[in-house]
Amino acid sequence: MNRQHAPKGIEWTRIRNPDGTVRPGYTWNPTGGCFHGCTWQMPDGSTTECYAKTIAERFTSGYPNGFEHHYWRPHNLSAPLKVKDPAGIFVGSMADLFGHWVPEEQIRQVLNVMEEASWHTFQTLSKFPIRLPNFGRFPDNVWVGVSLPAGHLMSATGGARALKAYLRHMQKIEADVRFMSIEPLWFDVAPVFEAWLETEEKLPFEWAIIGAASNGRSVFQPETKWTADLIELLDEGDVPIFFKGNLDKNYWRNWREDFPAA
Ligand code: SF4
Repeated sequence: MNRQHAPKGIEWTRIRNPDGTVRPGYTWNPTGGCFHGCTWQMPDGSTTECYAKTIAERFTSGYPNGFEHHYWRPHNLSAPLKVKDPAGIFVGSMADLFGHWVPEEQIRQVLNVMEEASWHTFQTLSKFPIRLPNFGRFPDNVWVGVSLPAGHLMSATGGARALKAYLRHMQKIEADVRFMSIEPLWFDVAPVFEAWLETEEKLPFEWAIIGAASNGRSVFQPETKWTADLIELLDEGDVPIFFKGNLDKNYWRNWREDFPAA
């Protein structure tokens, strides 16, 4: 997950229903920790790391072995079942639930809770999409997300190569809603999607989130052309777009906070 911002207040968990009402949004962390080690080079030359790691290192009582460790929290499993009003729940704001280190049995327990809590909509995000098709058909109330690649100071060429592979894995995911979190938009992704559409009928996701990069209080807007080209492609494919609040509201007057129809 691209977690450059606090899990609290993740705006895209507050799902707007077709009738205009808005569901409250929560995060739920039945697992914790992550080994992906994402870092981003900012345009000013500074380097920023994953926000979840920063938070975990601040609140060490919950992460006594550091962030690069797998924590299984079965006592948290029933939390969504206790929330009776329908909500949007982001699963794993402090983890990658589908990371290669997470035992399949634990993932299946989490999926079972999501299926049981059918009145909620769950959103997952992973940077290990090769694993997602292994779980067969996801419950209808689970939106399965994949984040834009970002390893340790990955180059734009490496990012584009990884994104191409990610799209192949996403194509095999069986879910009503697959989505891509393109935040931060740290390299020009439109050419990768264009190349994909030369051989495939449609993009392999039904919703996209776009956001800027940040390092502490500094926010770095993506190149305007990258964003404009991406929006154009997504619009052509009828993919609803959600802008994260750190995009430049003065520039992007046609502000998007759309959700998939499901
Ligand atoms: S994949 Fe892991 S390291 Fe990367 S941003 Fe997400 S939680 Fe952080």
